[in-house]
Order: sequence, then C-alpha cells, then structure tokens
Amino acid sequence: MLKVGLTGGIGSGKSAVSSALSDYGAVVIDADAIAREVVEPGTPGLAEVVAEFGEGVLTPEGRLDRPKLGEVVFADENRLARLNEIVHPRVAERSGQLMEQALASDARVVVYDVPLLVENGLESLYDVVVVVDTPDRTRIERVSRDRGMPRDQVRSRIAAQADRETRLAAADFVVDNSGTREELRERVAELWRRLLERAG
Ligand code: ATP
Repeated sequence: MLKVGLTGGIGSGKSAVSSALSDYGAVVIDADAIAREVVEPGTPGLAEVVAEFGEGVLTPEGRLDRPKLGEVVFADENRLARLNEIVHPRVAERSGQLMEQALASDARVVVYDVPLLVENGLESLYDVVVVVDTPDRTRIERVSRDRGMPRDQVRSRIAAQADRETRLAAADFVVDNSGTREELRERVAELWRRLLERAG
C-alpha cells in the first residue's frame, strides 16, 4: 500500500484534496481530527494540556478552547513546541492504529492529511509527499470568507508555519490550488493517476 503524506499551509485546500482522493478510493487519515480526538474531555491528553497551559485554555463546559490555546501557542514558539510534545506522540499512536486498519483493507493508497508534516520533519514516514500549493493572498481570502477568521489571524498562522520554499522542497508532487474548485478536481484526477502508478 502506498503511504501518501498530504500537506500544505492553513487554508491551502488539504481537506478538499483528501476528500476527492477518498472519493477515488483512498483511505484518508486526518491528523487534525486525531489531534482533536486525543484531547477530548476525559482524555489523559487534555489533562496534560491543562497541566501545562492552565484551566484558562478550557471552555466553561470543560472542552479545549482551541482559539484560546491558539492565542497562547502561536505567540510563542517554545509553547507551540511544548504543545506538540504533548499532542504529537498521542497522534502518532492513534495514527498507527488507523494505519493497521487501512493495511487490513484492500485500499491501494492511504493518504495522511498532516498540516505540520514539514514543520515536524515527518517526510520519511511516507512513500510520497504531496504539497497543496496556494498563494497566501488566496488562502487568506478563502479562510476569512469560509470560516470567518480575521485576516490578521490567518496571516499570523501563515507566519508560524513553514514557508512555501521549505514545503515545496519536501514535495514529490505539488497540487496547485490557485484556481477554481473545478480546476482542483482536474488536478486531483491527475494526481490520483500518478499515485496509482506509484502504488504499482
Ligand atoms: P486547514 O489547514 O486550515 O484545515 P485546508 O488546507 O484543509 O485548511 P480546506 O479546508 O480544504 O483547506 O480549504 C480552505 C477553504 O477554502 C475551505 O473553506 C474550502 O472550501 C475553500 N477552498 C478550497 N479550495 C478552493 C478552491 N479551489 N476555490 C474556492 N474555495 C476553495
């Protein structure tokens, strides 16, 4: 089974690409979804986050207040690294379990949607790295339009992530998502053909 690491900056279109690949028959493992799962209320992951960052990162209902945590960690590299130290091993463990399930299926391609693949130096875990490449101004536009996130907040997220050159240097395939959704669909169709060739 071909292991594909799919990455790209905030709002680049990873979810759009992974959902299209899933329609073609790839098994998709979403690192962000797993990262949420490992800090659900009642988990040891959430307890550790609270021990590190305080009760101020919880909502009144006791869930992780991600925007609040984001304010804390995206303003300070060391705190971001600390959060990754807490969350990452748990994500890795859960990913391993899901990988086992994928291997037991008859899928030829498994796609890991990993936003911080390059930032965390995870290239070697995958047979192929796919980077979704979208200009900053387009990402700012789409994320503020679709999620109501203030533009400045999108900009500071972009600044906290790997830059375009670093990401592209890690890529085996690049999916340009500067165009329409229809253009993206065509590019993903081409990507899928090439992934199947690689899968053999
Ligand atoms: P994040 O890392 O923040 O989770 P992502 O890389 O998964 O983001 P998506 O959620 O797939 O990105 O895309 C960001 C936003 O842009 C979404 O609202 C999506 O619907 C929209 N979008 C994606 N591709 C296009 C496109 N080609 N044209 C217009 N809108 C798009």
